[in-house]
Amino acid sequence: MSLIRKTAAELGALIASGEVSAVEVAQAHLDRIAEVDPQINAFLHVAADSALAQARAVDERRAAGEPLGPLAGVPIAHKDVFTTKDMPTTAGSKILEGYRPPYDATVTARLREAGLVILGKTNLDEFAMGSSTENSAYGPTRNPWDLSRIPGGSSGGSSAAVAAYQAPLSTGTDTGGSIRQPAAVTGIVGMKPTYGGSSRYGLIAFASSLDTPGPFARNVLDAALLHEAFSGHDSMDSTSIHEPVPPVVEAARRADVAGLRVGVVKEFGGEGYQPGVLARFREAVDLLESLGAKVVEVSCPSFGYALPAYYLIAPSECSSNLARFDGMRYGLRVGDDGTRSAEEVMALTRAAGFGPEVKRRIMLGTYALSSGYYDAYYGSAQKVRTLIARDFEAAFHQVDVLVSPTTPTTAFPIGERADDPMAMYLADLCTIPANLSGNAAISVPCGLADEDGLPVGLQIMAPVLGDDRCYRVGAAVEKALEDRWGGPLLKEAPSL
Ligand code: GLN
Repeated sequence: MSLIRKTAAELGALIASGEVSAVEVAQAHLDRIAEVDPQINAFLHVAADSALAQARAVDERRAAGEPLGPLAGVPIAHKDVFTTKDMPTTAGSKILEGYRPPYDATVTARLREAGLVILGKTNLDEFAMGSSTENSAYGPTRNPWDLSRIPGGSSGGSSAAVAAYQAPLSTGTDTGGSIRQPAAVTGIVGMKPTYGGSSRYGLIAFASSLDTPGPFARNVLDAALLHEAFSGHDSMDSTSIHEPVPPVVEAARRADVAGLRVGVVKEFGGEGYQPGVLARFREAVDLLESLGAKVVEVSCPSFGYALPAYYLIAPSECSSNLARFDGMRYGLRVGDDGTRSAEEVMALTRAAGFGPEVKRRIMLGTYALSSGYYDAYYGSAQKVRTLIARDFEAAFHQVDVLVSPTTPTTAFPIGERADDPMAMYLADLCTIPANLSGNAAISVPCGLADEDGLPVGLQIMAPVLGDDRCYRVGAAVEKALEDRWGGPLLKEAPSL
């Protein structure tokens, strides 16, 4: 089998045993990128020279008899919202064009420490605001299943890169669904860890109380290995949790659900859901039952208010976080010809540097936080947030995990929702509650919708710091479905 088709765990083992070199593995993926990325546009920056140098370093360590970790020498695509001191970091925005950060994000540093080979930086919706990667200032990424469709967002470059075999692993960030939704619509695995379980240091901030780095992979075990590699306490992040990383790799290997209580969220899955999505979801629930799980319906009445609450909280935080992009400190500066005041230059820079969705969010957030409206909007949304956390707590007294479809529909055509922000926002209907409460949640492939033959994702939500349950249940579903399909879902993708 060609190197690009192997799993990350297999590649790590082959490299550690010396059967293949990390350089060969990196080169095979760089060749794949050169072959398919002109159509996919998953990468904003390919770092061929530094990738080969990192791979060479791993091969030298092995030759010197040093022990290598499970992912040493394995290639990875890195979302361009994490700072990297040796590569540009744009966050998908014109305002950061040409910006080279002076430091590495904690996630970046931990990838390097684990010996992962960073192939380059992946495309995203500008400042991670969107569900389709169409809001990137550098052109949309295309879904490898159907090049006329979106790969999800905001981490669409990362999902497409893994689905198109350009990398076995990639990083993402999930503020309202930006890992799980792209994973679902490209037929791969994407995990949002418990908030505070993975570091935000060096992650360009969108909504700081929600932003959560997490892994993408083509199977559950690979996602768990990557999760373990970059997660855990970080003193540089003030909201980082002082707890050990949950035993995610062990859980992915365990892959059984016997005796587990699974709650089906009653509020998700009615009008507005594609029939093929609901059909695959119901089959996945039946499968869990046949594997020995006890399935019950659970009501989470506040989940219906999650989307409006999110669209007050996330824009409010973004309006504050994005104030730092003023044309003075980073990247783009417009109109600084010696005749204009600093305020005028800032206004011109922000007008030219931010795209329409970012401007919309800054305006919404500024409004929601303005005096006289603060209590009615931001304050109410914060109260809803508490209610959602209580719904989760009550549910996890009854069940061990909650399940739902990851998204109401499969990948939609590029352009279809570009002029309809509400339709775009609905893509995150099922994913947002876990962000507002900080819970762990994963998306794993559960089949293809009958209408369009496109991938459907199953979302598995667990309590705070119960990340291992997501992997345990996800791996059990994966194992049973791959037996049925005769291999991973991706083998059905027509353009691969
Ligand atoms: N699609 C959601 C938004 O546009 C979530 C984005 C994300 O998780 N970064 O805000």
